[in-house]
Amino acid sequence: MTYNTHKLSSQNHSHIIGRQDSVTGDAIKANDEVVFCSACQSVFLVESWEYMNQKHCNQTETLGFVPAPIPTLRAKKKTRGKNNDDKLIFEIGNSNIKFLYLLFIVPVILSLVGININHWVAGLFVLAAILSYIGLLTIIYTKKLKENNLIRKALRVHKNTVKVLETGIEIQNDKFYSYYEIQKIQYINKSTWDFLVNLSEKYIAIYLKNGEVITQKLPSKRYEQNKPFLFALAWAAQFTELHFYTEVQQELGLVKSIERNYAGKILVLD
Ligand SMILES: [Zn+2]
Repeated sequence: MTYNTHKLSSQNHSHIIGRQDSVTGDAIKANDEVVFCSACQSVFLVESWEYMNQKHCNQTETLGFVPAPIPTLRAKKKTRGKNNDDKLIFEIGNSNIKFLYLLFIVPVILSLVGININHWVAGLFVLAAILSYIGLLTIIYTKKLKENNLIRKALRVHKNTVKVLETGIEIQNDKFYSYYEIQKIQYINKSTWDFLVNLSEKYIAIYLKNGEVITQKLPSKRYEQNKPFLFALAWAAQFTELHFYTEVQQELGLVKSIERNYAGKILVLD
């Protein structure tokens, strides 16, 4: 089986050099030939990777690149934060697409039903369909204008949106907490299965210095989609304490790697 190896240089990979290979316990040095587990981004000497039968985190994928020291700070849209020029590190939330799809499909079904039943109720269906169309057009029109904040907010109310900004955390496009007022952030991901139903509970708790605790439910996303959010939180850990608690095995590997490899007060809770 083939896997990606990287030869480390002292100029480009100083953030990797000095880390520990968890198999041998040796510190990684310049010119070492290394492999990165793609799930948790832990670094291993090639010999260790071979020793583990080319597997870590129950998988065999390796990174085709050397991971960057911290997630790069990039501005997506300048106006997205509450403070107009506050840079967005990462935003997590459910999209409106399903909702808009529903808005589109409901009037279609209503009018089809209305046309096909020969009863006074049909009139109500057609009326409801017309109203739905008007609603839909209004929303599309408003989206185009991108001015009507009220509708935009209404559309986003239950999206469980959390933004990691350069200066703080914004919840539901509404409340903003600066890193100065935050004492610690906890990321909790509980995953319980009950009669084949996944009762997972994912949220962040923001502990403010004034004693207040703000909790916000997070959208249920798959591991891969959730990963950048965890890196964004790790980025924020340069300003505040960060605790991870996760019952998802793959995610646990990742947060443990973040705990080991990132600067800042990061702790993985048991
Ligand atoms: Zn791994």
